[in-house]
Amino acid sequence: MISIEEALEKLLSHVSVLASQEVAILDSLGQVLAEDVVSGIDVPPLDNSAMDGYAVRAADTIGAAAATPKLLRVIDTVAAGAISKKTVTGGTAVRIMTGAPVPAGADCVVQFEHTDEAERGRQSVGEPILEIGVLREVQVDLNIRRAGEDIARGVTVLTAGTTIRPAEIGVLASLGRDKVAVVARPVVAILATGDELVEVGWPLPDGMIYNSNTYSLAALVRRYGGLPRILGIAGDSEEALTASLRQGLDADMLLTSGGVSMGDYDVVKDVLAKEGEIGFWTVRMKPGKPLAFGTIRGRDPNGAPRNIPHLGLPGNPVSAMVTFEMFARPAIYKMMGKRNWEKPAVDAVLDQRVVNRDGRRVFVRAIVEKRDGGYRAFLTGPQGSGVLTSMSRANGLVVIPEDREEVAAGEVVRVLMLDWNEEAEQESGL
Ligand code: AMP
Ligand code: MG
Repeated sequence: MISIEEALEKLLSHVSVLASQEVAILDSLGQVLAEDVVSGIDVPPLDNSAMDGYAVRAADTIGAAAATPKLLRVIDTVAAGAISKKTVTGGTAVRIMTGAPVPAGADCVVQFEHTDEAERGRQSVGEPILEIGVLREVQVDLNIRRAGEDIARGVTVLTAGTTIRPAEIGVLASLGRDKVAVVARPVVAILATGDELVEVGWPLPDGMIYNSNTYSLAALVRRYGGLPRILGIAGDSEEALTASLRQGLDADMLLTSGGVSMGDYDVVKDVLAKEGEIGFWTVRMKPGKPLAFGTIRGRDPNGAPRNIPHLGLPGNPVSAMVTFEMFARPAIYKMMGKRNWEKPAVDAVLDQRVVNRDGRRVFVRAIVEKRDGGYRAFLTGPQGSGVLTSMSRANGLVVIPEDREEVAAGEVVRVLMLDWNEEAEQESGL
């Protein structure tokens, strides 16, 4: 048996970063930037007002107070999107809206609340305001957003390698970019194996079960940014498997589930050996000990030959998902150009004793809740690797190290967070 780290290192040595592509900015969410983004403009492009108010000269407000307003002549009104042709000189003001460029001559903006505008408005309903009283002294620059304050022209705003989040999409839009170069999303072909499997939507004959792995795995591929390509179900014969596998040979990675144990019909490794290079491992983890890995002779999107990585995940639904998290997810991240594939983790107090008899790293499904300022991990109940609902209830995987034969209730354990389950948080009353 090899360690998870060793298995992952071997797998990743066969996986490389994909080529870049131009996509519409909104489609780039979660992808990794493949270019340095340099700004061709100042953002904002001009000095503009951060408030609705009056653009004035700060010197004209010296000594202004509620009892001693400074009176200024209003020479213009400017809204966002317009430019005032007037120049503010001593004794004058331009009425200005948030986002409107500051007129020449003004060096600050007095917000409406610090003028007597409301008072005057009540007295002269509908009439333009020709004079305004400033009720406070203001400093130069107050309420002015300077040109280039957010982004100066010529500056590298985003660097290649950055993962794109909503804020980066906003930044790209603020530069006027509609497209961006990112590392491509990997196409991950998914093939379920097993004579007992029935496709969803069909009646269930005696002795058969529904194919759930294809869907949990495809959803995981999508969650982590890849593009799932569903190849359906292959029966447990070398011929059936080979025929189905061949439909996935232009994908960036191939996932199969099932057929990697020691049973009579576990033919995935035999097919792998014929169609490519096999590296079959038993990995020191639970669930998910049997894991096949190899490279299959495939072709790139242009039809040129290349080897594509194949991960043969175990068939048990929980094992398939947990091994996906440990191996397929990092592989997808690497192909997408991401450099960090650590799962977010918290330290939590374990609610019950867990034993670990055979020296493997055990991942125990748990619900993590915040209680009394710390985290508590509650096991989800039966931990059989076929109990898929336990995955559905869990928001984390408690890690029991391979060298610990038991972990007692009350001990602090590391929990890999599968996600942040808001419902679970609510149940605990937080
Ligand atoms: P195997 O690794 O092929 O021996 O499968 C292990 C267990 O997982 C068996 O009980 C299978 O019936 C079950 N299994 C395999 N593939 C799937 C699948 N796609 N969906 C649900 N269960 C599966
Ligand atoms: Mg099987």
